[in-house]
Amino acid sequence: MAQESPNPWLAPALATLVPYDPGFTQVDVLLSANENSFGVPEDVRAAMQRATEGIALNRYPDPMANELRDAIAAWHGVSRGNVVVGNGGDEIIFNLLLAFGGAGRTLIDCPPTFSIYGLYAQITGTNVMKVPRNADSFELDTDAIDKAAAQANIIMITSPNNPTGNLADLAWVDRLASSTKALIVMDEAYVEFADEGASSVALLRKHDNVCILRTFSKAFGLAGVRCGYLLAPQAVVDGMSAVRQPYSVDVCAQAIARVAVERREAFIPAIETIRAQRELMIEGLNAIEGVRVWPSAANFILVRLPNAHEAHLRLRDEHSILVRDFSRTPGLDNCLRITVGTPEENRRVLDAMEALA
Ligand code: PMP
Repeated sequence: MAQESPNPWLAPALATLVPYDPGFTQVDVLLSANENSFGVPEDVRAAMQRATEGIALNRYPDPMANELRDAIAAWHGVSRGNVVVGNGGDEIIFNLLLAFGGAGRTLIDCPPTFSIYGLYAQITGTNVMKVPRNADSFELDTDAIDKAAAQANIIMITSPNNPTGNLADLAWVDRLASSTKALIVMDEAYVEFADEGASSVALLRKHDNVCILRTFSKAFGLAGVRCGYLLAPQAVVDGMSAVRQPYSVDVCAQAIARVAVERREAFIPAIETIRAQRELMIEGLNAIEGVRVWPSAANFILVRLPNAHEAHLRLRDEHSILVRDFSRTPGLDNCLRITVGTPEENRRVLDAMEALA
């Protein structure tokens, strides 16, 4: 049926919405989505298979995923009442904005950062106050955030930040949490790749307005399973529980994530390899003429190079390597984000980047 343009059915507030596009195409070396190329260790995968084998697929999952919440709570030294799980961290971000954002409420967003925050703010009718990062270092403008906080309901702090890889200053987050009533969401999707002590988990006990988002998609190699969680004060958990879709985390995801928590030590070798490979990649990329590389505490590296868009296409078409093209994102002119993969994948990236230079 022919439709008028603009779409006559779409809510007017959503008329300018652009669907999230991960820019995926099939290639040999997939380093565009900050996944974990190592996947799940074989013996842990076998345990996951056993854990899902006898599951009653005809029954709804436990809506509150209590066994998984208990495992996560024990791991982080909090109570079940301080944990919410979601269909990936993405769903949790959506539910945070649904519960604590909305019409007449304001989110502080610090671009360049994860674009989902802005997208979900628009969908939920949440006002966005942008406090841009430093254009060169991508450090947060902490003075500007301190000033803006009085008008905010939610402050999103991504640490390590995607796609710039840098951490937030936790001493500053601590002071901010004391001086604002706004809800501070620390998005720590990549924190397992950072040095020890990078997590803001200790701030949970100190403040009633800090929560921490984590995911099984990155360090735990379970991006396909779709499971993330939020550590938060009870009042935040209650608000989230009221808005969330009760069965969004399916029975298999709950069982698989539980095994990941129980066997979390088994993921450390791959995390350590990725961390060491990251430093080798930074060194190797830095040595290529014309390429600027930012330091990273995550499993990806942001680079700037001349004609980055064309380089992205040539990597894809001539070398079958997919990285993420940010060259059209404000503040990220000529930037590409390269996920750190296996040593073989990383070698291919370096060889291809050298061939392009
Ligand atoms: N936060 C950040 C900063 C991310 O980059 C991502 C994934 N790209 C997420 C949260 C959510 O990841 P997932 O939905 O796979 O848990």
